[in-house]
This record gives sequence, structure tokens and C-alpha cells, in this order.
Amino acid sequence: ILQLFTPLNFLGTVYNGLVMAFVDLGNLSELLAEDADITDSPHAVHIPSSETYLSTQPNKENAPVIEFKDVRFRYPTQPVTKGLKGFNLKMKRGTVTAIVGPTGAGKTTISRLLLRFYDTTSGSIFINGVDIKSSTQKSLRGLIGVVPQDTPMFNDTIKYNIAYGKRDATQSELETAARSAKILDFINSQDLGWETMVGERGLKLSGGEKQRVAIARCLLKDPDICVLDEATSALDTITEQSVQEALNGLSQNGKRTTLVIAHRLGTIKKADQICVVGDGVVQELGTHEELMKIEGGKYKELWNMQLKSTKGEDD
Ligand code: ATP
Repeated sequence: ILQLFTPLNFLGTVYNGLVMAFVDLGNLSELLAEDADITDSPHAVHIPSSETYLSTQPNKENAPVIEFKDVRFRYPTQPVTKGLKGFNLKMKRGTVTAIVGPTGAGKTTISRLLLRFYDTTSGSIFINGVDIKSSTQKSLRGLIGVVPQDTPMFNDTIKYNIAYGKRDATQSELETAARSAKILDFINSQDLGWETMVGERGLKLSGGEKQRVAIARCLLKDPDICVLDEATSALDTITEQSVQEALNGLSQNGKRTTLVIAHRLGTIKKADQICVVGDGVVQELGTHEELMKIEGGKYKELWNMQLKSTKGEDD
């Protein structure tokens, strides 16, 4: 019996540690399985805030706060022809970058590399001038907030679930975040309000509601960088609109640098730059208008496909 229980207890400890360390990094089972490989080097450095970093740069306007430089990466089980094969991308402060591409192109992998769930095989990712391989994980995670596709909920009150982004948040901070995330009216419409239990044993939240809880958490955390993994599942038009408004509140504060794994036409169209990933590299990069002008281009093709499938849902 002991042998059976010891590993489970151990997992419980790891789980709690990770919950604290990762503030809303989403898929905890994935972290449990894979985080153990990544450890701080003895000389690990603290990544400065974007503001501190940019204040030291002569060319502030154009210095990227995030840079993928010749990144190569392949999962050990992937065929050698697959994976990222020299991925380059720069993101400036206060901008939104949408990553698009066909299924399996590596969009989610790019966000996992940025969060350093894995180390690149070669090449580097710089955040505020520091190669994340040589940074402390604590500073990396402190700088990034994540809104995953499917947000895990704790079996606790809605207040606990939102305050998870900032444990010492005041009620007024919670309300401001919930209002911007378009979830405040929903909370107030419940008999028990903020004390409503959610999760397995409480109120079951819809995909759109969960994503708005994650957005509220992220607003409370107020990170320099935000990674959004937009839900692929169909949301009804009204829900989609309110999630979209909530996302806008999160990304368009002029200071936050946002990376979106984009599935929604609205987000893609409004992004400052759209990065089309395919065959392990950036195939096209530009604004919606720029990329739509490329005759026979990948983006144009993806856009038209997406448009068709959205029309199908509406019908
Ligand atoms: P989608 O749009 O379908 O979500 P994506 O562009 O986000 O796709 P990724 O999830 O990054 O694609 O996956 C890229 C490739 O890596 C796929 O071929 C996938 O099967 C493979 N892959 C993803 N995760 C792992 C893993 N943990 N181990 C091995 N291979 C993986």
C-alpha cells in the first residue's frame, strides 16, 4: 500500500508547487510530465521588465521585447523532417502578434518554447534581451500571463478562481478585472455572487465563461507579456463577441506584448502582425491587408478557408 501511495503523495506536492509557480499556465498534466527536465543554471539571470530593458536601448522604438532567433526544435518522437527549422520572429512592446497556420504546423509548440516548457534544439529565444535558456524560471514566469484554450478551474468559489491571478487582490481590483473580462455581470447574476462554487462540484462554466475567468486572472496579474491560445471550439456569436472584447481589453493597453495562437477572424484581422507558420518556418509576415495582397499566398488561402468554415457554422 505504501508503495502505491508514495508516488501519489509526491505528485500532490509537485502539483501544489507548480500551481504556485506557474500561475495559470494551463495544462498542468503537461507540466507535470515535462517540466522536470528544465532547471535553472547556477548562473541563471533575472529577466528585467520590458520597461527597464527598453530604457537601456538606444533604439527603443524598434527594439523587440521578444525575439525568436533561428529556432530549431523537434519533439523526440517526431520524424526528422518535422519540427521548427529556423524560426525567426520579433515582437515589439505593446503589439499583438497572431500566429496562424495549418493544423500541426507548430503554433502551440512556439508558445510552449516561449514559456520554456522545452528548450530549443538550437537557436535562441530572447525576452527583454535575455536568452531564456540562461534566465531564472521565476522571472520568466513572472513576466508572462497565459490564457489557455481550456482553463482549469479549481473546485472553489469564483472569487478564489479569479483571485488566483493575484492572491492579495482587493475586492475593487477583482471587480475591475472581472468587468474588463466581461464576466462581472455573470458573477453578479448568481445568487451567491462571488461566493458561488464552480468546478466539478459547483456551477459548470461554459468554454466562453472559463476563458473570461482566465482573462480576468491575467488582467489581475498584469504581466508584460501575454500568451493567448484562442479556443477552437465554436462559441455562439454573442459569447464570441464578449470574449473578443475581453481579449481586446487584455492586449490593447499599449504596454503589453501579446502572442495569440489565433483561430478567430476578428483577432487575426486586428493583429499588428500576422505570422504564417508552415514547414517549420515563417512563410509570411505582415498585417492582414498586406498578406491579403499576396496572390496565391498562404495567408489568403487560410483566410478564405476560415471564412468558409465560419459561414458554415452560422448556417
Ligand atoms: P493545431 O492547430 O492543430 O493546434 P499546432 O500548429 O498548434 O496545431 P502543435 O500542437 O504545435 O501544432 O504540433 C506540431 C507538431 O508536433 C504536430 O505534428 C504534433 O503532432 C507534434 N506534437 C505536439 N506535441 C507533441 C508532443 N508532446 N510530443 C510529440 N509530438 C508532439
